Amino acid sequence: MNTAPVRVLFVGGLGRSGSTLLDRMLGEMPGVCAVGEVVHLWERGLGNGERCGCGLPFGQCEFWLRVGKEAFDGWSNVDVRRVAVLRQRVDRTRHILRMALPELPAGIRADLAEYAGYYARVYQAVRQVSGCDLVVESSKHASLAFALRWAPDVDLRVLQLVRDSPGVAHSWAKQVRRPDVIDDGEEWMARCSPAKVSLQWAAQNAAFDLLAATRVPVRRERYEDLVADPIAVLGRIRGFAQLPHDPTATSFVTGDVVHLKTGHTVSGNPMRFASGPVQLRRDDAWRSELPVARRRLVSALTLPLRLRYGYLRTPGK
Ligand SMILES: [Zn+2]
Repeated sequence: MNTAPVRVLFVGGLGRSGSTLLDRMLGEMPGVCAVGEVVHLWERGLGNGERCGCGLPFGQCEFWLRVGKEAFDGWSNVDVRRVAVLRQRVDRTRHILRMALPELPAGIRADLAEYAGYYARVYQAVRQVSGCDLVVESSKHASLAFALRWAPDVDLRVLQLVRDSPGVAHSWAKQVRRPDVIDDGEEWMARCSPAKVSLQWAAQNAAFDLLAATRVPVRRERYEDLVADPIAVLGRIRGFAQLPHDPTATSFVTGDVVHLKTGHTVSGNPMRFASGPVQLRRDDAWRSELPVARRRLVSALTLPLRLRYGYLRTPGK
């Protein structure tokens, strides 16, 4: 078994920013295995038996069965409640400042090592089972990226995906069914008020700026640019992730259509179940559907970072 640190590209940012789409596109490239949101593997996948991106319940997916065997000699050896306890102690936005220090405080050291160790074993097993050199995981939360920063077995790079805040706020206000759950048609994606989304958008994105200051390689890309010119954005990400030059790497993109194979993603938005040709279309519904008062509120609460990310320079893009 390969014992070198596993190369992980962590897709970060606030939910509803297009991370599932990016995850799926990255997973189409040679040498890359994209597995969705590993942070939800424990409770949703193992605990609740939600669907893998291939459509099968997590516990019946051959890919994840092999990963579990490789990582833990079977998923039955993982104490999901223990992972949940550790997550509370480590993987929360309120712990970020402690994990950003040059030296990890003693009070969090053992919990963090144990918690990050679960992820490292999953990533290493994914590398082994898939044969891919790079594992893409799209858990998004900055706090997990800060925790992985301390994992000696993980060679971490972070791709921060941003989407203009009014679009994110509008998306969080919509009612979207979750097809992830077996035998329950009444499960919905979480909703959130524009004010709360704005504050979280600012906090999560500022956290990735802080992470970059700790010398973790962080690259920022915009959802709007990904949809407008996917080949250019994917090419930049390949370079950032130090993937070898390969002119065929983006051959699954034809104009504004991406051709997706079945993926084995744990959690994400419903498009993780899509396969075949998928039309890229920038979701601009907020421009006509988000009430003006809410748009102004979101804009005001997120103004400094919108400026920094170029959203006020190119409002029509
Ligand atoms: Zn699967």
